Amino acid sequence: QIQRALRSFSIPLERLHIMKGHMIEDMCKGLCRQTHAQAKVRMLPTYIASIPNGTEKGNFLVVELCQNQVRILLVILYGDGNMSPHMVYKIFDMPEGMRQGEGEALFDFIAQCLSKFLAETTTSEIKETTTLPLGFVFPFSCLQTRLDKAELLSWSKGFSCSGVIGKDVVQLLQSAISKQELRHVEVVAVMNDTVGTMMTCSMEGRPCEVAVVADKGSNCCFMAESYLVETADETSGRMCVNTEWGCFGDDGILNDVFTPYDERVDEESSNPGEKRFEKMVGTLYMGEIVRHALVALTAEKALFTGTDVAVLKQKGVFKMQHVLDIINNEDGITEVKKILESVGLQPSERDCGRVQQICRAVMGRAATLHATGLAAILSYMCQTRDLETLTVNVGVEGELYTGYPRFEEILLSVSRLLAPECMPTLLPSRDGSGRGAAMVAAVALRLAAQRRDVDEVLAPLRLSRADLENVQALMRQEMDRGLCKETNPTASVRMLPTYVTHTPDGTERGDFLALDLGGTNFRVLVVRVTEEGITMASEIYIIPATIMQGTGEALFDHILDCIIDFQMKQNLVTQILPLGFTFSFPCQQVGLDKALLLTWTKGFNASGCVGKDVVQLLRDAAKRKQHLGMQVVALVNDTVGTMMACGYDDPKCEIGLIVGTGTNACYMEEMRNVGTVDGDQGRMCINMEWGAFGDNGCLDHLFTHFDRVVDETTINPGKQRFEKLISGMYLGEIVRQILMVMVEKQLLFKGRPCPKLQTRNIFPTKFLSTIELSNGLALRQIRAILNELELDASFEDSVLMREVCQAVSLRAAQLCAAGLAAVVEKMRENRGLDQLSVTIGVDGTLYKLHPCFSDNLKKTLKDLAPNCNVTFLLSEDGSGKGAALVAAVADRAANAAK
Ligand code: ADP
Ligand code: MG
Repeated sequence: QIQRALRSFSIPLERLHIMKGHMIEDMCKGLCRQTHAQAKVRMLPTYIASIPNGTEKGNFLVVELCQNQVRILLVILYGDGNMSPHMVYKIFDMPEGMRQGEGEALFDFIAQCLSKFLAETTTSEIKETTTLPLGFVFPFSCLQTRLDKAELLSWSKGFSCSGVIGKDVVQLLQSAISKQELRHVEVVAVMNDTVGTMMTCSMEGRPCEVAVVADKGSNCCFMAESYLVETADETSGRMCVNTEWGCFGDDGILNDVFTPYDERVDEESSNPGEKRFEKMVGTLYMGEIVRHALVALTAEKALFTGTDVAVLKQKGVFKMQHVLDIINNEDGITEVKKILESVGLQPSERDCGRVQQICRAVMGRAATLHATGLAAILSYMCQTRDLETLTVNVGVEGELYTGYPRFEEILLSVSRLLAPECMPTLLPSRDGSGRGAAMVAAVALRLAAQRRDVDEVLAPLRLSRADLENVQALMRQEMDRGLCKETNPTASVRMLPTYVTHTPDGTERGDFLALDLGGTNFRVLVVRVTEEGITMASEIYIIPATIMQGTGEALFDHILDCIIDFQMKQNLVTQILPLGFTFSFPCQQVGLDKALLLTWTKGFNASGCVGKDVVQLLRDAAKRKQHLGMQVVALVNDTVGTMMACGYDDPKCEIGLIVGTGTNACYMEEMRNVGTVDGDQGRMCINMEWGAFGDNGCLDHLFTHFDRVVDETTINPGKQRFEKLISGMYLGEIVRQILMVMVEKQLLFKGRPCPKLQTRNIFPTKFLSTIELSNGLALRQIRAILNELELDASFEDSVLMREVCQAVSLRAAQLCAAGLAAVVEKMRENRGLDQLSVTIGVDGTLYKLHPCFSDNLKKTLKDLAPNCNVTFLLSEDGSGKGAALVAAVADRAANAAK
């Protein structure tokens, strides 16, 4: 019978595994907006977004509402890593009956204690004039909606004051404080005691992200990824979640591990059916579980045979201390006997041994179940942080931890078995939750101050709707000026005619050659346009630096060698193929196949080319090489190539956009509006060269300090000003400038200097993509990036960096959208439409790979140009396919004219 009883307390490992799984399921349910109302593990958000970092400073008050007492603390932090905060405290006993009386009386009493405490405490450190922030430890289940707002859900622990449930306890305390005329005391944070414990343990330079309170009740809190806490609106960073795991099992999921003794304890409790988990693990219940086990075993005549056991019928006769004393006597059966006799029993020696075994089993189970809960928390953290292993500090406190010597050993070994991927280190909480509450208040103030400073730095980058409308209007103005013959020379948007007058209509056929010069690689392609679609073959050729910077003749000879080589390899020598030339350098185009090079860029500097017709230079080289296998029919800008390539798949595509190293756009304009080219019939594609928008100073009001610094360090200061706010070559640099200022202002890396960050281009734009990946998982990658920069970043540093990147990339997308809004609105106007449906062909790695750029762009465009229905189409190899299609369309148009 004894064995059976003992066995019922021991839960097999497989069952613990299942229990852990259920706990995780219930946790997820508690965090999810739709299901949290039904979840037993409530997972209450605490609005505590940060643990102390040691820079906290100042005087803080704490009010801690305990079982029968009110504790008032004054904590003075010196910003020295919290190594030795100064603390003064006083405990006040609560009058009899207050816990069941009126709520108002309770809060008045607390405020009176506070008043007394402040009167007695040396006032040297506390000046009446400055506000004293107060942290309120309120150890009951609350619905918290802000750090300083918590509605009481239900009383427990013998409290049942009237008029408090459903009320904001911060407000109740604050108004009681006002009645005491303590105007300088301001309640800034309210928290559960478990949270206070975590924060207490977080001091002294060891971040603590989990706390377990194994006391009369049992509870656990931990730092969860904010985006998972759907019941709170915060989405970035982490938030401490108060699990309230004591209610685990209230849906019956633990019924099979409940012993008959547990059932009796539950039945006799004030809240039967509730807090099922807590009733197996809370020290409030240990003595009672033992008592019921003894009652049952006595009835089965396995214990205390022939003696008077009437005393066992008394509820509460076995206290937690008795149980602890019994198990802590390793070999002192006489001691156990004394204890049992003190209760009023007459045990035999055998009885003593058996009672000790029962006590050990009950306590061992409590520790094991705590370990199971902890394993669930740790595994969940490890998973949701996308880690392979989790190393974490766990703050622990409570009677079970301090009184039961094997608790720590069992907690660690069983949680290791159940969550082998996690490595917890236990930190004892030496001072309960009080010091932690001061930390919560201190951290809240630190974060609020930091928030103000961060907002101040980022404010100039945040554009209002009016700002964007203004950019749109300015772009429109510059477009008009660029199109008009008279104003064109002074317009910052050059609006270059391309002599492309038609987009593809799908009837284009034939084989074409294409060249792509000016991107990362030089390529030669053959593009076959058939009824079935387009197929391509291409070859990448190297242009040696000596040729890039040699003579123009040598460069074009080299290009021809590559073409000839390609035609040989592709068996294309016998034909004369039309050739489209994507040439991504600024050109003044005077015909489809006539374009004067304005200037070389991107490392090219071949002599004798600037001012010349690039097409002619290519034809001259063909002549020199006596190559007759090709006929250059078109020179194409890469924006135009992109529009044409997409136009083949979607006839509505009449705009091309590039957001890569640089940014540019083109669109189909009415010939009658193009003052720089003769003729009024039909349309022509205009290469806007919008990267230079603002070079005449019209955007100066938008440039921030960071933009100006970035501009000054480029090879073309004052030029391409719009591009420098938007494109891949610059965004990383802008972010780097902001980060440097934030380090200087001690907002990042605790102000530790970061020499590597001073290096130009150390922060490429692709980092923005990595950092901004929307959920919390990517934060690990941020750490990796920061390590590369030799930065030891805290979690909060990475969250702040993400905010910086988001501000910069959002602004880029919004500005790009404002530019496009001007374009689509002009097209709509041109065509006299109420509603324009148009497609934009897009190319560029920033647009394609950044996680939010394209979404932000689309959203803003929709907002700025609501009457235009815009589709975005990604271009695949626009510069190859597009050039061939320009050639094909020209071919088709020429044939049609015949
Ligand atoms: P180009 O504009 O020269 O034709 P791309 O369209 O490939 O070339 O753009 C290259 C630019 O894209 C680089 O300068 C870089 O700044 C940016 N970039 C590269 N990778 C990423 C990424 N993962 N996320 C955002 N931007 C990127
Ligand atoms: Mg490109």
